[in-house]
Amino acid sequence: TARLIDGRMLSHRLRANMARRIAVLAETGVTPGLAVLLVGEDPASAVYVGRKIKACASVGIRSHTERYPATITTEALLARITELNAAEHIHGILLQLPLPAHVDMARVLETIAVAKDVDGFHLYNVGGLVTGHTVFSPCTPYGVMKLLESEAIPIAGQNVVVVGASNIVGKPMALMLMAAGATVSICHAGTRDLAQYTIMADILVVAAGVPGLILPQMVKRGAVVIDVGINRLADGRITGDVDFAGVSARASAITPVPGGVGPMTVTMLLENTIMSAERRHGLIPDPRCIAA
Ligand code: NAD
Repeated sequence: TARLIDGRMLSHRLRANMARRIAVLAETGVTPGLAVLLVGEDPASAVYVGRKIKACASVGIRSHTERYPATITTEALLARITELNAAEHIHGILLQLPLPAHVDMARVLETIAVAKDVDGFHLYNVGGLVTGHTVFSPCTPYGVMKLLESEAIPIAGQNVVVVGASNIVGKPMALMLMAAGATVSICHAGTRDLAQYTIMADILVVAAGVPGLILPQMVKRGAVVIDVGINRLADGRITGDVDFAGVSARASAITPVPGGVGPMTVTMLLENTIMSAERRHGLIPDPRCIAA
């Protein structure tokens, strides 16, 4: 039966190290600062933002939430982001998605200063995933890379299948795994015969948002299975996209939901925010300087 890949435990370990880095920053009088912008009343967004704020406090990042009504205009959001771009004590700006449909999301995301784009959704960072010059990696796929690394799972030369092709999870995930040397297939809702792909995977990453999508017979024996899905069932339980019990009998390692990728996503947001402060204050180089 599969070994459990424990995202809570790894998060705990990484966060302990972050608290030490924040102590080093404090010696120079700097506290990393994160601004979280929450637009509208989406209950799931409010829960995610609450978790991020709490996680910041746990390592010593100073964070605050700014709540805006769903009726806010694109212009008003742009104006606030411009102020935060210039604010010395703010190292990260996170705009919680989704936004109300009337807001020009692309324009808003591209207004966030690249150096403060800790979610990694600015076009520069998205493009950087293709060319290898990203300043911040998006938190969920970055967290998956850290999980694989911590488990010493080899990536180079492996067959990797990513199920899900969204801009925030599937596509960046595929690019990061390809950069690490994997042969990557990307499946999505339009894929014919999903199982024909998943059965080839040495590493299977699933981010579709469909509970029970991945059945045991779709998984190669000994595969590593990463379940990014977070689905709330009718009875209130949270479950991933993978038939956990069945697939555990075939896989060599698997992430649980909850307790796998979820905590890592939040942890990588902390990582990006601290890294931003370290760069701003010259403790580590800015990757754009290296690339230049
Ligand atoms: P999305 O809805 O934007 O994208 C879903 C993707 O899955 C699409 O590319 C779609 O084509 C594909 N898909 C849908 N049904 C499919 C099917 N039957 N077969 C194959 N592909 C299918 O979702 P998202 O934002 O990428 O999130 C995906 C899942 O991951 C959701 O459950 C979400 O809650 C979860 N999520 C988890 C974290 C985390 O921290 N663990 C972070 C972000 C998203």
